[in-house]
Formats: sequence, C-alpha cells, structure tokens
Amino acid sequence: MCASDLTKLCEDDRSEKLSLRKANEDNLAAKMKEFGLEPLSKDNCGLANATPGILKGIFPAHKDFGNVSESIRENKPWAVVSGINPSGPLHLGHLALFRENLALQKLGADVFIPVSNDESFLFDKAPSLEKAEEIAFKSVIPSVIAMGFNPAKTHIFVDSDFPSIYTFAIHIAKHFTLNHVKGVFGFTDEVSPAYGFYMGGVQMAHILMPQLPEFGGVRPVVVPVGIDQHPYIQVSRRVARKLNLTPPSELILKFMPSLAGPEHVKMSASYQNTAIYVTDTPDSAVKKIKTAYTGGSPVLKYQQENGGIPEVCSVFGVLQYHLLDADESSSIALRCKEGLQKCKECKEAASEGIAAMLQEHQKAFNEALNNIEDFMIKTPIKSFRFFK
Ligand code: SF4
Repeated sequence: MCASDLTKLCEDDRSEKLSLRKANEDNLAAKMKEFGLEPLSKDNCGLANATPGILKGIFPAHKDFGNVSESIRENKPWAVVSGINPSGPLHLGHLALFRENLALQKLGADVFIPVSNDESFLFDKAPSLEKAEEIAFKSVIPSVIAMGFNPAKTHIFVDSDFPSIYTFAIHIAKHFTLNHVKGVFGFTDEVSPAYGFYMGGVQMAHILMPQLPEFGGVRPVVVPVGIDQHPYIQVSRRVARKLNLTPPSELILKFMPSLAGPEHVKMSASYQNTAIYVTDTPDSAVKKIKTAYTGGSPVLKYQQENGGIPEVCSVFGVLQYHLLDADESSSIALRCKEGLQKCKECKEAASEGIAAMLQEHQKAFNEALNNIEDFMIKTPIKSFRFFK
C-alpha cells in the first residue's frame, strides 16, 4: 500500500471512530432528556466518598439518587436491586456492575439479587427452566458471591424457586392492562402471554420487594440499569406510588464496549468473542485482548501525531472498568488522546491484570460453591395481603 493510501486508511478509520463517539454521546444525551434523567458526578452525587463507578463516569446519569445519598449520609436503611438472568457464565460486563453493587453495599445497602431463570427460559436464552436454574446455582450465584458480598446484607433468590415472588407479582400486575404493558415494553401478539405477566408483574415485584415488611419496610431503593431498561423503573415508580412505597431511584450504567468493536455495542453473552467470561482461562482471555478493537490507528506514527480515541476503545474499557482507579483512568485517557500511549502498552497491562483477576475469581468461585445457602432468601412473602 502506498503512503497516500495508508494515510487515507488512517483518516477513514479515525473519522469512523469519531463518529461512533459522537453517536454514543448524542444517544446518551437524547435518552437522558427523553427520560428526564440527571447527570451524575462526584460533585453532585451527595456523597463525601463517591463510589468508583461514579468517580470514573461509568454511571453518568441518575433518577432520584438524592434519596439514596441522603440515607447514606444519615445512616438510614436503603437497598439496591440488581437482577440477572442466568443463561451462561458471567462476563466482565456483569462483574463491573456487581463490583459497583458491592461498593454500594459497603456504603450500607442491602443488596437484593433476583435471578430470573423464568426470563432466561421465556426469552429463549436457556433451553428449559430447569437448565436456567442449574446455571443459576452452579455458575451465576457462586460467581456473584465470589466477589466478596456480605451474606448478612445480600438477599438472592431464583424466581422459580421462590414462588412468593409470583404471588406478589399477581397483586402488582392487577394494576396494568395488557395494552399498557405492551405499550411500555413493546412486544407483539405473537409472544407467550407469560411475557406480559413477567414484565408487568414479576419484574416490578423484583424492584419493589425490598420495601415489603418482611425485608425491611418502606425505604429508598436504587436499581442500576442500562439506559434502555429505564421503562421498567418508570413503571415501577408509578406502581410504588399506588402501593404507598417509595418510588425506586435509578443509576444508569454505561455498558463496557464490546471487544469485537462497534457492531456489537456492549459486551454480550450472546457473542463469545465480544466478552471475557469468568470461566475463561487466563490464556484465552489474553488472546481475546490481543485481538480486541481499540480506539487507536492502524499506523502507530499516525496515532502518535493525531492521538487515539479512548471513549470507543474496548481495551481502555477493560482497564477503566476493572483495573484502574479514576485518576489512573483519566491519566491513560489523556496520554492516549495526546498520542503518548501505545495500544500495545494498554493491551499488555490489560492482559496481565485480567489474567490475575480471573485466577483470583476462579479460586474464590470454588469456595463460594459451598456458601450459597448463606445468601439465599428463605422468608416467604405474606404481606401482600395488606395491599389492595
Ligand atoms: Fe485504547 Fe490504549 Fe490504544 Fe488509546 S492507546 S486507543 S486507550 S488501547
């Protein structure tokens, strides 16, 4: 390839990455405006010690987080709800979310983790309800516990194993028409009627149950979600008011960029090479990082002259979400933009850090397999009798 062709290649590549960064920023700004969400930072979060996710900008927006920060400052009870559907092993995107849940627990939260094997089955992410339950107990739950959660403040349940959740869901679903649920969640008449009950009943029950008397009573609850899941929170806020509960707050999680680049926007369990799984061997994780999409240029000299684009770089995502603190992340981002950082250096640091992290996680996972019962909810829900 001649020099002018190479320059053109680099310019096109850079222009594509700049467009991607702008599209991501515009999409976030437009959805924040549409959903009435507020920006979140260490300066406005109301906490003397903001969580790592807030400091790094991984949680750039919120709804009503002030309720939660007030409870933290005044040492009053509050809770986090962070559900997961069991379809396979957790990946780094899940770990980033649960690491923030852990930071919130250290600030005082009771953390509720509904594991929705019914959702995995209904949405064809698992071949059967039983298989999804097996994945929950043999993979997902021990992986979460392995992160260091406190059993006294962590409340896990698997939907089909905890029938009380369906009884509470029936009371909630009574507040909707099927048309309403379809309008909010956008499914067609071709799907099972169970979709409507799951979305308009079970999901709402997950979000509202920490406020039932059995689990601590009325109090602020925050749900960390991707921005596309905002409708769940919006609807749950409406139901909460009807049941005289506190409308849940919301923390918006910016997804980790996919290792495979912008065609797969976020790390996803559906595409093996977009993500690093907790079950990957360190060697296989290192291989994925070596070929991961970056915000750099195909030609090093061009990158040194023009800088890279860390905001769309999956390797920077691995470093920022998992291995660096907020100051270190900012420093690498700045060096990248100024053309001082090489992608090779980032890939080496990410490979070394993730290999060590996986080894540590896999060891903790084996210990967690013996402690699952300490984390499972055993209290049935009976207080629904008091709801109209
Ligand atoms: Fe990403 Fe690092 Fe390359 Fe910048 S230098 S684009 S942060 S891998």
